[in-house]
Amino acid sequence: MLPTTDQLREWDVSHVWHPFTPMQEYAQEETPIIVAGDGFEVIDSDGRRYLDGTSSLWCNVHGHRVPELDQALREQIDRIAHSTLLGLANGPSAELAKELVQRVPAGLNHVFYSDDGATAIEAALKMAFQFHCHRGADPTTKNLFVRLGEAYHGDTIGAVSLGGIPAFHRVFGSLLFRTLEVPAPSTYRTPAGMSSEEYLRHCDTELERILSENHERIAGFVIEPLVQGAAGMLVHPPGYLRRVRELTARFGIPLIADEVFVGFGRTGTLFACEQEGVVPDLMCLAKGLTGGYLPLAATLATDEIYAAFLGDRAARRTFFHGHTYTGNQLGCAVALASLRRFDSHRVMENVARNTLILRNWAEQFRKHPHVGDIRQCGIILALELVQDRSQQQRFPASQRIGHHISRAGLKRGIIIRPIDDVVIVMPAPGMPQDDLIRLLDATESAVQDVLQA
Ligand SMILES: *Cc1c(COP(=O)(O)O)cnc(C)c1O
Repeated sequence: MLPTTDQLREWDVSHVWHPFTPMQEYAQEETPIIVAGDGFEVIDSDGRRYLDGTSSLWCNVHGHRVPELDQALREQIDRIAHSTLLGLANGPSAELAKELVQRVPAGLNHVFYSDDGATAIEAALKMAFQFHCHRGADPTTKNLFVRLGEAYHGDTIGAVSLGGIPAFHRVFGSLLFRTLEVPAPSTYRTPAGMSSEEYLRHCDTELERILSENHERIAGFVIEPLVQGAAGMLVHPPGYLRRVRELTARFGIPLIADEVFVGFGRTGTLFACEQEGVVPDLMCLAKGLTGGYLPLAATLATDEIYAAFLGDRAARRTFFHGHTYTGNQLGCAVALASLRRFDSHRVMENVARNTLILRNWAEQFRKHPHVGDIRQCGIILALELVQDRSQQQRFPASQRIGHHISRAGLKRGIIIRPIDDVVIVMPAPGMPQDDLIRLLDATESAVQDVLQA
């Protein structure tokens, strides 16, 4: 017999420590316990259905219980669930590597597997650092990474070192390695006295200055291409990524594209880098790689990076890095099925349609007294709610506007997860139009429930 909701809730509250969650408050709120999924809905232990408006935290692609993905897992599990890539190869990881290389920007021919976004970033950082060592750089000085203001690249210590979100990262400051920060080219809140144009020029000048003054010490430049997700969906102006590529190429700095969130269709192209014709030196993939089914990540490298790791065993050029579940066969099998479904179901055409629906919906908020800013890239949409529009003044944090909107959403049968007071609409790339419209109607109602209360 299945445990009851009360039993599950007691076990959850007593023993499960939830990520990014103030646990004292959590214990006092009744949070749905998800036990099933169906298409783009998740279903709780009392049988209530919720439209998944967060793509299960930005990773779901084709919905839940997708026939081809489920089938791929069943077939794989009848063969084997896991074997190691240390000294052995496996079928699904080889086939997936070939399929990924065909789809990512041309030149990223080598796939290093890991488990999640943070580990994909760690691998990229170590690859970039060691790459310079093999080319004769002094490891005690060629050790700086450049990152953007308000960057987010995951929660392991290396990834947190690249982090620029004070609420998440400041407390760990004394554990971290040093980085160079370039200002994020996001124009909603510019420094006092600077117009958007002046601020963007300032960003560009700083970018060039920091790279030209420090390039001898820089091991890599890490960027979330087009959209900085966890910062609250900061959308970069067109041309910024291309400019970063030009400058990093000029100064011989490996460019690490963190496509963990933006990859797999969210920005309107399969990968965000495509939109600016950029080929990074290293590219990190995770969240949507398995369609949102299993933890699996990949760090892709160019021939140039990879070649620096070749040589006699005695030359110790090996990349001494790996994880127990690297190249997990179930994960790779479902990732392959997910890639194929992009083709068979023309998922990118669906993304294009949904991009327009989101744009039209957002338009009606343009004059709303509490909508300070609307940011959209593809099917990523953020409404930044403010107390006073003309001053861009935030609501007091103690009002927890975003949190209350998310709770109001539950009552209206949707899952949305704002970042502070930025309401985020994050439909999965495969979400059909009727579900999307239902999600938008309910989101609008949840916003009104809180702001008119
Ligand atoms: C989520 C995220 C990560 C971390 O991925 P995990 O799988 O949570 O470790 C890294 N970079 C970006 C841009 C992300 O959004």
